[in-house]
Amino acid sequence: MALEPCIGLEVHVELDTESKMFCTCPNEFGAEPNARVCPVCLGLPGSLPAPNRKAVEYVIRTGLALNCQVAERCRFARKNYFYPDLAKNFQISQYDEPLTHDGYIEVEVSGETKRIRVRRAHLEEDTGKNIHMPDGRSLGEYNRCGVPLMEIVTEPDFTTAEQVREYLNMLRAILRYLGVSTADMEKGVMRAEPTINWIDRESGEKTPKVEIKNLNSIKSVYEAVKYELTRQHRAWDSDEELFQETRRWDENAQRTSPMRRKETADDYMYFPEPDLPPLAPEPEWVEEIRASLPELPRARARRVAAEYGLPEYDAEVLTSSRELADYYEAVAKLAPDAKVASNWVMGDMMAYLNQTGTDLAAFPVTPAELTELLELLAEGAINNPTAKDVFAKMTASGRGAREIVEAEGLQQIADTGELECLVEQAIEANPQSVEDYRGGKEKALGALVGAVMRASKGQANPRMVNELLRKKLSD
Ligand code: ZN
Ligand code: MN
Repeated sequence: MALEPCIGLEVHVELDTESKMFCTCPNEFGAEPNARVCPVCLGLPGSLPAPNRKAVEYVIRTGLALNCQVAERCRFARKNYFYPDLAKNFQISQYDEPLTHDGYIEVEVSGETKRIRVRRAHLEEDTGKNIHMPDGRSLGEYNRCGVPLMEIVTEPDFTTAEQVREYLNMLRAILRYLGVSTADMEKGVMRAEPTINWIDRESGEKTPKVEIKNLNSIKSVYEAVKYELTRQHRAWDSDEELFQETRRWDENAQRTSPMRRKETADDYMYFPEPDLPPLAPEPEWVEEIRASLPELPRARARRVAAEYGLPEYDAEVLTSSRELADYYEAVAKLAPDAKVASNWVMGDMMAYLNQTGTDLAAFPVTPAELTELLELLAEGAINNPTAKDVFAKMTASGRGAREIVEAEGLQQIADTGELECLVEQAIEANPQSVEDYRGGKEKALGALVGAVMRASKGQANPRMVNELLRKKLSD
């Protein structure tokens, strides 16, 4: 019997709007508890919701980017349940009439492209939070109540945890390119819940569906999916009973544990939201939004690879965010060599950003300034180790590359007479290396080159040093 994995994904994304979904409270994180609330988002009797046009636009924008159809007319629905973090005891969501539906995202895993169908991207409101105190009390924090929330649901098309991971990376990049959300999983702005089971395609037999919650990074989703697939398969093999249930991921133990047996749609008693009229986005508006879509990550990666002659890997890394891609393209357009520019952006620059925890927006070196450094390198005015040194000085001082090189006399020594002198000194001072090299040990040359580089304080032209050494040693 051949079992096949069947994985679907539900993703919730808080939208980056100024105000909340159905009221004018500011949509902002980090305010004093319960300081961003009003009768509407608290669900006080008699208050009436009014939809946020920007949030509707953001869902349409996302839907279009995910190749979805935009509904000509759709409705909000009430999802009824008692939960202390949602004071009005229902969530305004969408049920049988989502705002956008039937799209797809293509993901590439180990050279294979897989199309993941997107069932729907709809609009709803977020809940508040309960804070459980060490002394046993629980507090209600309602600032998040009513924050615009987009729900994106796929068909169960994934067959591996790697595809799920790639989908989430791609989706996050798309949402950020679109500017609709910061899509930060660590902060709970984007939340992913996979549904997992196994199916025997021949007999149609399957394991009960399990949904996993409490995942706060793409890595956890990946690990949880892997774990759960294995757990279910083992249980199936040993005829252990499995349940349709919601399980939670335990990050420390690296395993899932039962949370609650699955509720069904019937439990929510969905019905059309009586306080809101149907939503009918004007077709002209939808076309306007379509026309304003930016070039998306995959398309940009392909274009950047072709336009600048880069390896696919470089193009993917460089287009992983819109800001990074903009930065790279600004350098590549001016720099003498687009691949060298890519090496610097992906190497020294990204290392600097990671090590210092700096945002690209706050990076002190402008594309024009980085280009100046690359020009000095291409001209041969400085060598590569010096360029790294100058780069560090640029990030620390904000001074230009030429200015630093001139002020500190860092120009490369490419004067043959001067270099010959240094080479002769190195040969004299390292008789063992000379003997080794002459005896056939090619590696010994490296020690001599190193000696010359040190003597020149790193400013000698390494290629010339190499040539001069070989010439002298073969005499
Ligand atoms: Zn409010
Ligand atoms: Mn939802």
